[in-house]
Amino acid sequence: EAKAAGKGEIRFFDPEMQEVISQRLLLEEDIVRGLHAGEFNVYFQPQFNDDGGMTGTEALVRWHHPERGILAPGAFIEVAEAAGLMNQIDHVVLQRSCEQMASWARLEAFSNVTVSVNISSIQLYQPGFVQEVLNILQQTGANPALLKLELTESMLLTDMPQAISRMRLLKQSGIRFAIDDFGTGYSSLHYLQQLPLDQLKIDQSFVRGLPYDSNSLAIIRAIIAMAKSLELEVIAEGVETEAQRAILLNNGCRLYQGYLFARPGQASDVEALVFEAAEHGYHYEA
Ligand code: C2E
Ligand code: MG
Ligand code: MG
Ligand code: MG
Repeated sequence: EAKAAGKGEIRFFDPEMQEVISQRLLLEEDIVRGLHAGEFNVYFQPQFNDDGGMTGTEALVRWHHPERGILAPGAFIEVAEAAGLMNQIDHVVLQRSCEQMASWARLEAFSNVTVSVNISSIQLYQPGFVQEVLNILQQTGANPALLKLELTESMLLTDMPQAISRMRLLKQSGIRFAIDDFGTGYSSLHYLQQLPLDQLKIDQSFVRGLPYDSNSLAIIRAIIAMAKSLELEVIAEGVETEAQRAILLNNGCRLYQGYLFARPGQASDVEALVFEAAEHGYHYEA
């Protein structure tokens, strides 16, 4: 309940609303402080093929908060976006991811391992985006052919021509593109066909319904068929059980990301997993 009180001044009289607003402002200030203090870092979650080989990792932002511990994006992303701070966070994530890629490039076991980075809408459409990505790649020495950028359907629909032209420019350097949370937006074949894409990521809400929910399975089958006809890779996220992995495989999905295989962890955790696997094979957590 807001009430105008004199020119250009708005006062909030609802104490609950007031409380929510001050919490958000505090968080916003804290994010700015955290950015300056270098508290935002990246976890990597491995992705596997049906032979149990690690094919890639997804970079996921974490805030190493001095008092609140390690925070996942759910704790700050909404406020960061509303405050126009998400592009700064994404910049840090891209920078750290590419540094890590350059470092992994020295290890034989990582020679084909891709790193997928989530891009926010604000970042995709900001004027210097293409140059920002190319600069980071050049400055870190990361191999562009192993970088994947994850976009969402809704973000692409905001301004398709602009999105396509930016994607094409980046693609010239070998960068690949995935659509994240696929199936939750407008998935028309017509627009998919126009985008220079490489991968569809089946949203975890559909995977969660497996193996019993027939609607989830129907949607997953449709996504896999769509990916096949467009000659795109398809990966399932949020795979938590052996039954889910099995039914995905039976329906032709051969790439997986989820707690069944590995949780997001520090780069050193991913390395330990890979070296362990080289000696003893992969052990799922199931
Ligand atoms: P997303 O890109 O779809 O990432 C997958 C999320 O699912 C991650 O959550 C991951 O930790 C979680 N996850 C992975 N496997 C499983 C599983 O088996 N079960 C369950 N229940 N969850 C699983 P996280 O790290 O909390 O990230 C949430 C979302 O925040 C991401 O969803 C992405 O949209 C966004 N995000 C993360 N990092 C960044 C970033 O650097 N920039 C931007 N713009 N967004 C980011
Ligand atoms: Mg993602
Ligand atoms: Mg997702
Ligand atoms: Mg997402």
